[in-house]
Amino acid sequence: MMKKNWIVFLSALIAMASVALAVHQVRAQEKQAPVGYEDTPMLPGGKWHVHDGRRPQPPVVTPAPFFNEQPPSDAIVLFDGKDLSKWESAKGGPARWKVEDGYFVVEPGAGDIETKEKFGAVQLHLEWSEPTPPEGTSQERGNSGVFLQGQYETQILDNYNNITYPDGQAGAVYGQHPPYVNACRPPGEWQSYDIVFTPAIWHNGEVSTPAFITTFQNGVLVQNHTEIYGSTGHRIFPRYKPEVGDVGPLRLQDHHKRVRYRNIWIRPIKPPE
Ligand code: MG
Repeated sequence: MMKKNWIVFLSALIAMASVALAVHQVRAQEKQAPVGYEDTPMLPGGKWHVHDGRRPQPPVVTPAPFFNEQPPSDAIVLFDGKDLSKWESAKGGPARWKVEDGYFVVEPGAGDIETKEKFGAVQLHLEWSEPTPPEGTSQERGNSGVFLQGQYETQILDNYNNITYPDGQAGAVYGQHPPYVNACRPPGEWQSYDIVFTPAIWHNGEVSTPAFITTFQNGVLVQNHTEIYGSTGHRIFPRYKPEVGDVGPLRLQDHHKRVRYRNIWIRPIKPPE
């Protein structure tokens, strides 16, 4: 009888320990940001879902040492290390991100900032640096972003030893096109984007020519005349918005991560006659 009681007691103990372990595992999983979705709309081409975690991970490429690309004489300098006078809050009012020693940093909760000036086709140079030590996983590690025309996000994320869904990596057209390769530098180091962007062309209320983007990250090609499917977003099928028009601001994303920016300049593209 005594032995039977012990067996019952031990069985109960094991059951309770199993439940505790399962709860712990679920909580641990909740802390991990998702690395992909398959319940999202299909992207054009019918092969991958938006943010499809099964999509192949871009190969890792180690970029060459940082090369400081100063603005050419005809560039519009959007940040020269001193102030945010060319920027405002996307919600209206002054840009409330912090300018520090030659750079500015996302102020979590202050909201996106955007340029006062609006642009169409451009060449853009921008430098950023990820928070160190790194915190969070997947999309929660150093997320920000640069939106051409205020609509089309080139993702900024710390993908140095950080897996996420490929169409959400640094260099991706967010939710649409993974970067060709993963050319991220470690957090804390300065990184660069050099982007060539041409906006969509509208004809009778329809897009006759889509927007295109070519992007170099740290001197490495990550997008090559890539067709943009429409305004970017989380878990959405991208569509063009007629109200966007021909020009829009350059917008930087407050994703509640203290990403730093510096040396931002832009050249409106004017093809020869
Ligand atoms: Mg982002």
